[in-house]
Amino acid sequence: MKKILFTASECTPFVKTGGLADVIGSLPQALQNEGLCEVRVVLPLYDEISSEWTEQMEKTADFQVQVGWRSQEASLYELKHEGVTYYFIGNDYYYTRKGIYGYYDDGERFVFFSRAVVEALQHIDYEPDILHGHDWQTGLAVAFAKIFHPGNLKTVFTIHNIKYQGLMPHHAFNDLIQLPLEHFGGFEWNGMINCMKSGIFHADKITTVSPSYAEEIKDPFYGESLHPLLRERNADLSGVINGINAEDYNPMKDPNIPVNYSHSRVKKKENKEALQEELGLHVNRDIPVYIAISRLVEQKGFHLLERILDEFLQQEVQVIILGTGEYEFEESFKHLAWKHQSKMATLLKFDEGTARKLYAGADFFLMPSKFEPCGLSQLIALRYKTVPIVRETGGLKDTVQPFNEITGEGNGFSFTNYNAHDLLSVMNYSLSIYHQPNLWDKLIKNVNKSQFSWKESAKAYAGIYSGLTETETAPEE
Ligand code: ADP
Repeated sequence: MKKILFTASECTPFVKTGGLADVIGSLPQALQNEGLCEVRVVLPLYDEISSEWTEQMEKTADFQVQVGWRSQEASLYELKHEGVTYYFIGNDYYYTRKGIYGYYDDGERFVFFSRAVVEALQHIDYEPDILHGHDWQTGLAVAFAKIFHPGNLKTVFTIHNIKYQGLMPHHAFNDLIQLPLEHFGGFEWNGMINCMKSGIFHADKITTVSPSYAEEIKDPFYGESLHPLLRERNADLSGVINGINAEDYNPMKDPNIPVNYSHSRVKKKENKEALQEELGLHVNRDIPVYIAISRLVEQKGFHLLERILDEFLQQEVQVIILGTGEYEFEESFKHLAWKHQSKMATLLKFDEGTARKLYAGADFFLMPSKFEPCGLSQLIALRYKTVPIVRETGGLKDTVQPFNEITGEGNGFSFTNYNAHDLLSVMNYSLSIYHQPNLWDKLIKNVNKSQFSWKESAKAYAGIYSGLTETETAPEE
């Protein structure tokens, strides 16, 4: 069986800021459960990781990692959880901080981590066939693996969001990376050291998290300046849609929600009432509830929502926003909630339990993203029988089919142009379907049938892995 070593900057249940953590926390299990390969995972040991986990970790090695002219301590810890072995790399200077990103030296923190991942290969009892790096934080791990282990260790690099690239001034090549100058071109892009570019440049295979996004990022609008490189590497680039852990996100068993349910719409409405009551909204199970659960950033289409919510809220509807992020959005959604007190709530926090109560209690999930590599929230919404309303981009386009009254097909609502009034009209249309029981029934039946498990995608990843390792072992002519 192929041995794969994942590396990433976040992973449920240990530490999460977004969908990347959900993927790293569920794809290894899916690959193993399908009997496709063995997967282990290397993560940074942040202070954020709770003692519930750190108490179970076993320290297995201490070693030194060269970051430019400095030699840094790395401690290696091991933990088994649900059949997967996790390695954690600790360092008192880089990770004993609040939160996990947003520091002036994030670039250096992940140069250290990436170098440590490759060094750690000598200290673990596991010889991977493939190192699989995820997003910019591990782009350099893929590069170091390629440079230090040419030939015998294959590499895959997955782009979860090309907007975040891990940029550093070009002198970081000398100060932090310190490789012979011939390698400079593999790390530099537009005059900066670019960790995302380094991963894309060095990896044997590149994947991204949906087929549509794999096409989009070759275009200047979505490619965030890296489109020429992606076009060059087109033959090695593919898109595999993410799944979710359907056991964890399970309305039948979720302990965070007041009433567990499967297909019962009455029980779902009981969750709605509990939510309305908790948030001080008008309690009425028949009022449609629209939610957004997200980082409050431009990517997620909040400029559009900000523009039309006031008008939308003139009708008998309720809106709940859960998220943290840019000041502009936090302020304007707080203001709207103040203005429409019994109809709208804005919760400025990151809280898994609250998120699940919202998924369970709502009728519609709003995700009008400007771009969306895959998006997991719309899949979680579908799992909780909450109808997604999305913009047709990236993974949203690949997972949500617009409802068609004539054919009765489709599991949500969608619009094409990044335009606030297109969003408003599709939200108004969703409201009209909600009030027509025969059509609403058809839509909910389609939602119930939607697929979001990892099964097929895990097979696609396994195919990429075996394609890589088989070329290596193919007999010579
Ligand atoms: P991204 O990774 O771009 O942030 P995704 O849709 O792929 O977006 O994943 C977002 C994940 O983070 C989902 O699991 C979603 O439920 C969760 N999430 C986002 N914001 C919050 C929040 N404020 N509180 C709890 N969970 C959140």
